[in-house]
Amino acid sequence: MTDHVIETRDLTKRYGDAVVAVDGLELRVQRGEVYGFLGPNGAGKTTTLRMLLGLVRPTSGHASVLGAAPGSSHALSRIGAMVEAPAFYPYLSGRDNLTVLARHGGVGEERIAIVLAAVGLSDRATDRIATYSMGMKQRLGVAAALLKDPELLILDEPTNGLDPAGMAEMREFIRSLAQGGRTVVLSSHLMGEIEQVSDRVGIIRAGSLVAEGTVEELRGRAGLRVRAEPLPEAARLVAALPGVEAVTSAGGLLDVTVDTARAPAINRVLVEAGVAVSELYLQKTSLEDVFLELTANGDQPR
Ligand code: ATP
Repeated sequence: MTDHVIETRDLTKRYGDAVVAVDGLELRVQRGEVYGFLGPNGAGKTTTLRMLLGLVRPTSGHASVLGAAPGSSHALSRIGAMVEAPAFYPYLSGRDNLTVLARHGGVGEERIAIVLAAVGLSDRATDRIATYSMGMKQRLGVAAALLKDPELLILDEPTNGLDPAGMAEMREFIRSLAQGGRTVVLSSHLMGEIEQVSDRVGIIRAGSLVAEGTVEELRGRAGLRVRAEPLPEAARLVAALPGVEAVTSAGGLLDVTVDTARAPAINRVLVEAGVAVSELYLQKTSLEDVFLELTANGDQPR
């Protein structure tokens, strides 16, 4: 049996007749992974996360979170979430804000020091929030989400509003949160963010999942590019080699779909046949290319 922490079937949310914010979404998030939910602005990420938390009621379809209905006390007691910018009392310290939340949520106050340390805010815990940087406020938001020591952490655009250093810090930190079997779902419209922290990625466009897989899978397979003379002879020789799946030529170059470990063998065969090889290099598609291609048309919800 697969251990899906989140599973949705045909999940759909309409706002009025005109807007389909989420359109037949099929999501599967596995236990212990960092799942990156990537999509352009307005693609339906926040609406999806809000449905998973029971904050928004789906128009149709089904979702299960930690084996329970979204918003049920069974699910909510095991989920920590930061959806939308966290709101805190600015005149209270970070620690006092967490104390308010812990009391309200029935969480033991011994968790406060633990989560403050986890997000690297122990030193500033007694300072008023009004003196915190944006990055510190975001980290305090994550600390609040961690208070319950949740099995599942849902973070909507956790790097929003952070400078590059703050973003890098948050990424590192998110990876550390996924240790010990905890599952982390984070959304972003920034490919770089998702690419660097996620085990698996789902790309959403206009409310539907258009691609899902590991970062490697989404990048597609790497291949080789060869510049050689004469090109038709090079194409013929390369196509006949074992392990070569496809050869196409364009712009004086060959694109070879093959395990890139075959590069030296390909080079040797060409050179031994008297073909002049001036370039031979690895060609990789980035997740960014995939994302741009997938979202090029219709990134606006209908
Ligand atoms: P962003 O990164 O900009 O937050 P998103 O991927 O999170 O985008 P959503 O916020 O889920 O996208 O919005 C999806 C679509 O649903 C948008 O067109 C948005 O305007 C619309 N929408 C969201 N909430 C409502 C609402 N309460 N009423 C009407 N339309 C809504």
